[in-house]
Amino acid sequence: MEYEAIIGLEVHAQLLTESKIFCGCSTKYGSPPNSQTCPVCLGMPGVLPVLNKKAVEYTIKMVLAVEGRVKEKSVFARKNYFYPDLPKGYQISQYDQPLACGGFIEIDLPDGRKKKIKITRIHLEEDAGKSMHIENEDTKTLMDMNRCGIPLIEIVSQPDLSSPEEAYLYLGKLKQILMYLRICAGNMEEGNLRCDANVSVRPKGEKGFGTSTEVKNMNSFKGVEKALEYEIQKQIRILESGGKIEHETLLWDEKKEKVFSMRAKEESHDYRYFPEPDLVRLVINQGWIEKIRKTMPELPDQRENRFIKEYNLPEYDAGVLTSSKDLADWYEEGLKYYPNPKILSNWVMGEVLRELKERRVEIRDLRMKPKDLAELLKLIDDKTISGKIAKDVFKEMAETGLLMHTQKKAEEIVKKKGLVQVTDKAQIEIVVGKVLSENQGSVKEYLAGKKKLFGFFVGEVMKKAKGKANPKMVNEILKEKLKIGDA
Ligand SMILES: [Zn+2]
Repeated sequence: MEYEAIIGLEVHAQLLTESKIFCGCSTKYGSPPNSQTCPVCLGMPGVLPVLNKKAVEYTIKMVLAVEGRVKEKSVFARKNYFYPDLPKGYQISQYDQPLACGGFIEIDLPDGRKKKIKITRIHLEEDAGKSMHIENEDTKTLMDMNRCGIPLIEIVSQPDLSSPEEAYLYLGKLKQILMYLRICAGNMEEGNLRCDANVSVRPKGEKGFGTSTEVKNMNSFKGVEKALEYEIQKQIRILESGGKIEHETLLWDEKKEKVFSMRAKEESHDYRYFPEPDLVRLVINQGWIEKIRKTMPELPDQRENRFIKEYNLPEYDAGVLTSSKDLADWYEEGLKYYPNPKILSNWVMGEVLRELKERRVEIRDLRMKPKDLAELLKLIDDKTISGKIAKDVFKEMAETGLLMHTQKKAEEIVKKKGLVQVTDKAQIEIVVGKVLSENQGSVKEYLAGKKKLFGFFVGEVMKKAKGKANPKMVNEILKEKLKIGDA
């Protein structure tokens, strides 16, 4: 029997506000434990939470980006559970009246089709603290409450995803949108983007849903794909052997590449949700939404389409260049100085991205500015250097800019290293002459019909000229000399 998977994702994204959601404490990452806390986020008696307007604004941006509906009225609720990292004994979240519902995220499937993944709801809530288990002579657990009260948005998808790969693509798209909006750092490894999955399987073609399990603790994009793959295969094995799927919460162990049962899954009634009495209903008027709409940046899909139309780029190029806002901005800045979209695209997708990947850095870490690359490309166009030499110059520009923090300009490197292309016919003729007289055996073979030796002569000339001879002229001169055989 063939099975299909049904996957829904719950993604928690940490919002990039400067202060926490219900108090003025800083959200700065990496500060000493418990240095960013106050009576409000520590849950002392008698304190009152005050909602951070920026957090609501960021949430609305996300809702607008996925074309969801912001509700005029929503309610914060207490989600009660007991855990050491939750000093209040409850988390302020939203339950039956979330801030927004509806909308979709469109993913590009590998076969070229597009698929819309519907969004169930988007709500706002606070994060809990962090436990650190220290093992020494006596095992201890330390608590850091800096994360208590950090604003999170939870984005819940409908169970529209039918494979681990689709889940991976959805997550990537979600991250891309969050980062375009500049409302989340989008780093799963650092925990500011977290993902839980609801997974079930059913025989292909059937309509009903099977019992689902919840998989948590997936700390990377690849981890999500692997964990889902594992869980789906496990469920199929259980069903095939006549077993029953238990409704439970599972933890993914990245090292062992296995899931482990954490506990029988809580139902929402286990949390005894009730409206947060310390916060009034959240009322959002249409005027504010429209104001926020005006500040919305161009989103990834729109930008990709514009790149195709406006710059006449292939879909592939447009997709790569708009994969992050920073990269797309860098490319468009470069176009101001070098208005040949396809050539610039080739260099950004080739040399620039390769350099970033090799050095494991982001485009914003690159000191080389788009204008610097444009100047290098102009040197090729005006025949000062060849394309091949330009790649070496590029390497040095990137290196001096990344490692030594003394970004050198293309022209400076070309002059200093004497890389200016030789276009003087007499000079090239001398080199060609030398190569041919040093390789008389090959010349004879060539003249006797072994035409593929031509490439060898070109290579030798370029080697002797240290790559600086104009390749077109080298070709012409070689042809001329070999035709008349005056070597
Ligand atoms: Zn605080």
